[in-house]
Amino acid sequence: MSESINYKLFINGTWRSGSDGSDLALTNPATEQEFGRVAVASATDLDDALMSAQNSLLSWSKTPASDRGTLLVRAARILIGKIDAAATALSKEQGKTLAEARGEYARAVETLEWNGTHAEELSAPIPMGETRMIVPEGIGVVAAFTPWNYPAVLNARKLAAPLAAGCAVILKGAEETPSAGVFIVEALEEAGIPTGVVSLVFGNPPMISEHLLGSPIVRALTFTGSTPVGKQLAKIAANNLQRCVLELGGHSPIVVFEDTDLSKAVSAISEYKFECAGQSCNAPSRVLVARRIYETFLAKLVEAAARIRIGNPDDPATEMGPMANARRIEAMERLTKDAVDRGAKVETGGARLDRSGFYWAPTILSNVHPESKVLREEPFGPILTVAPFDSIEQAIEEANATEYGLASYFFSNSPDVQKRMINSLLAGAVSVNYLKGVSADAPNAGINQSGYGYEGGVEGLRTFQNLKLVNAAGPLAIR
Ligand code: NAD
Repeated sequence: MSESINYKLFINGTWRSGSDGSDLALTNPATEQEFGRVAVASATDLDDALMSAQNSLLSWSKTPASDRGTLLVRAARILIGKIDAAATALSKEQGKTLAEARGEYARAVETLEWNGTHAEELSAPIPMGETRMIVPEGIGVVAAFTPWNYPAVLNARKLAAPLAAGCAVILKGAEETPSAGVFIVEALEEAGIPTGVVSLVFGNPPMISEHLLGSPIVRALTFTGSTPVGKQLAKIAANNLQRCVLELGGHSPIVVFEDTDLSKAVSAISEYKFECAGQSCNAPSRVLVARRIYETFLAKLVEAAARIRIGNPDDPATEMGPMANARRIEAMERLTKDAVDRGAKVETGGARLDRSGFYWAPTILSNVHPESKVLREEPFGPILTVAPFDSIEQAIEEANATEYGLASYFFSNSPDVQKRMINSLLAGAVSVNYLKGVSADAPNAGINQSGYGYEGGVEGLRTFQNLKLVNAAGPLAIR
């Protein structure tokens, strides 16, 4: 029997248990067996994290940005050396395949490196003629909250940009997937991050967010998770006027036009949709297909979905692992039943696998009634609905028929169609003949109920800066 793992909190430069000794169980979603524990932070622990962040802030913010950047790049290199162990731990606690976990860590490394490489340039004063300039300064202490679906890349995003900007970060990792926070914070520790600049906590999410955001020490919050929780956090943050970055849910459409290479589109859609068992905010959830090619497309998509090899995530032959937790299986059951009760046809999947573990078959639903919950709630799982459209106007209307606005995708090579779709889709990101994760150099944000505030790229780093405007009567003596 393998040894039980115990993940600790990192506060004031020390790995420690929660002050009141509480912890939570970790469950392997492939077996439903407990395999370890994660420490729970008490109010005292959170106060210690706040004090150490505040105490470290001045010196970190005055550390030359080039040194901060070098440290982040060093941490990225250290993390590369840990990827095998880190990906194995992530796969065990989250359920994604080892290949997916390794790919995610590669993006985490890229994120640390990009922010490290750009720290100096983006912290430099920006001249505005001879008499004015803008001085970027770190916003202060940042409270960061990450979910369980992509904890490696999201923890890296939550840490890298604020650290590059000269902020201290108190990171609340996801309790179900603590290892990614631990591996990345260990890499920062080995790279020489000063005491107090980074804290890592786990525990009761509402208690932690209320406690941290209740302190005026915290000047910004960054959260990735569901829209209802994002709204709650924004309300709490209003009391201390903390700046918010809210990366929330999505309900992304894909529109497939007649001129598309169907085989290529189907394999791109199937590969991206079922990554991480569909538990990605950017995963497409509705496919709209030009009526003339609808039947052929549907047959190909069903064949591709039914062919996906589901199994234990550490088996190299596995293409899709289990869902992360029992809550997601309950949601898949509820959404599928509701759609079927309203007349939907299950083209493939539609059920939990008859084995232990939270396995849900890749599911394609057609003939879905517009009032169905699966078209309104973020499915956050391996369920895709497919419907035909008769005109580009109808495709645009249905693609935009959601309160979310995170990502939209379409397949067409026609210049007219591309122009019209890019200008009409209501989303933070539009992808053309392309389905891939967001890279570290690009700004990423949702619109409408998908949130606000940028992560990634120049804008993602600037989010954690105040831009101090300097005005002078004559030419400034300093440059
Ligand atoms: P949930 O809404 O309870 O939690 C979502 C995430 O927010 C979790 O990581 C949780 O720890 C955290 N959280 C919850 N309450 C919090 C609080 N008061 N303060 C700080 N953090 C808090 O639901 P869940 O069952 O874990 O996930 C289900 C839904 O969450 C999904 O349907 C999906 O819509 C959304 N989700 C979105 C993303 C994303 O990448 N945008 C990631 C994970 C979950």
